[in-house]
Amino acid sequence: MLRKILIANRGEIAVRIIRACAEMGIRSVAIYSEADRFALHVKKADESYCIGSEPVAGYLNVYGLVNLAAATGCDAIHPGYGFLSENAQFAKACADRGLIFIGPAAEVIERMGDKTEARKAMIAAGLPVTPGSAGNLDTVDEALEVAEAIGYPVMLKATSGGGGRGIRRCDSAEELRRNYDRVISEAGKAFGRAEVFLEKCIVNPRHIEVQVLADQHGNTIHLYERDCSIQRRNQKLIEIAPSPQLGEAQRQYIGGLAVLAAKAVGYTNAGTVEFLLDDQDRFYFMEMNTRVQVEHTITETITGVDIVEEQIRVAAGLPLRFRQEEIRRRGYAIQFRVNAEDPQNNFLPSFGRISRYYAPGGPGVRTDTAIYTGYEIPPFYDSMLAKVIVSALSWEDAIKRGERALRDMGLFGIKTTIPYYLEILRHPEFRSGQFDTGFVEKHPELIHYSHKPRPEVLASVIAAAMAAHTGL
Ligand code: ADP
Ligand code: ADP
Ligand code: MG
Repeated sequence: MLRKILIANRGEIAVRIIRACAEMGIRSVAIYSEADRFALHVKKADESYCIGSEPVAGYLNVYGLVNLAAATGCDAIHPGYGFLSENAQFAKACADRGLIFIGPAAEVIERMGDKTEARKAMIAAGLPVTPGSAGNLDTVDEALEVAEAIGYPVMLKATSGGGGRGIRRCDSAEELRRNYDRVISEAGKAFGRAEVFLEKCIVNPRHIEVQVLADQHGNTIHLYERDCSIQRRNQKLIEIAPSPQLGEAQRQYIGGLAVLAAKAVGYTNAGTVEFLLDDQDRFYFMEMNTRVQVEHTITETITGVDIVEEQIRVAAGLPLRFRQEEIRRRGYAIQFRVNAEDPQNNFLPSFGRISRYYAPGGPGVRTDTAIYTGYEIPPFYDSMLAKVIVSALSWEDAIKRGERALRDMGLFGIKTTIPYYLEILRHPEFRSGQFDTGFVEKHPELIHYSHKPRPEVLASVIAAAMAAHTGL
């Protein structure tokens, strides 16, 4: 087993990994920028090292991190999500230094991180893939030709894109011509590779993804699916496991496809195969994420499998502890990404000091976060502050629990997406369990909630004022 792991990340996912290490008796090493000096992962790890004054550069410093891991006697590095998690050079640098990278092999990251290469591999493996360009596009004329052949609308996508960025829908040749250079230059800036490809736009699709786990002994299993259709600008807001939109046969089918995909590329460790489901109930492979995902929590909740622990065990060379038929699921889990954003101001990031925070509790509620009362949110990073995960035996009860937990949560001093999520939870379309990736855009009215204090809050405020007045 591994003895000491460097966590090449920050925030809630660093804390999540530290927790797994603590339970497994593994020492954890945290890293932090100056801006993160007071971050929770720094306090929770067994050891912490400052990696410089630049807010982001240190977290992306491949050789600096590999050297630090070696110098501090670590035998492995966990990359979390974002940052270097899908960087093949980082995985390779670890291997070259005799360190275990907790993720798949560098070649697999490289292949699946390149969306056109991944599409080719999946077509070869026999998976259904959205119609699109054979590879990267060389010229706008080639783009127009491909679009003509597959039909509009099309999606112009950055080949090495991620995080919902570098994707543009084009409804006509004019739009495609207009967006082409823009997306190429965005791709170059955001992902370091100015390459794009085209695929057919699936209109009003559902985003369904399957969690897979594979060991180094040829065992590959899936942990069922998640529905991530509640998105804004191609970024997930609320995730659900299992999808309330799938029947049992579809569930088995897509689980099998994901295992087939993973096996076809010699995948090891935890990964996610993302699909789109169209209105004719056809699935299309979209991409594979070769890392732990933000929403791994809801799969853990319905299956009882600790995905981060399995990642560590598999990376250490141990076989999976479960066979496919031993994976049971129970009930529904919903995750809310609580972002420091103001929904009523175009989701503008809302940084600053958290004047008071307390986590929601009670049955079926989990909170993964790195915030605490008095924490000052630095403006340099992702706006996701916390993940609230609720679960119950039925879809209806999971929704009720979600409403209760979000109200239960105390988070003051900044604006968050919580009131917006409460509106979504009340909406009949959401409650019906039948919605597609257009839900957020179709319901702009949901951001017009009011800030009226709830009756019980108002009552306690009045009581306190009266007590102060009468000197009681
Ligand atoms: P998930 O599929 O786990 O929900 P997200 O798409 O929400 O992942 O991305 C998780 C985090 O990783 C976000 O902070 C996102 O900005 C970042 N991220 C994902 N892919 C990339 C990439 N290729 N380049 C830069 N950042 C990325
Ligand atoms: P990322 O790497 O940023 O996660 P994805 O390829 O997974 O990018 O796409 C992110 C989201 O964009 C999807 O969940 C979906 O909502 C939308 N999207 C991507 N490709 C298509 C498509 N061909 N048709 C319709 N929607 C798409
Ligand atoms: Mg994706």
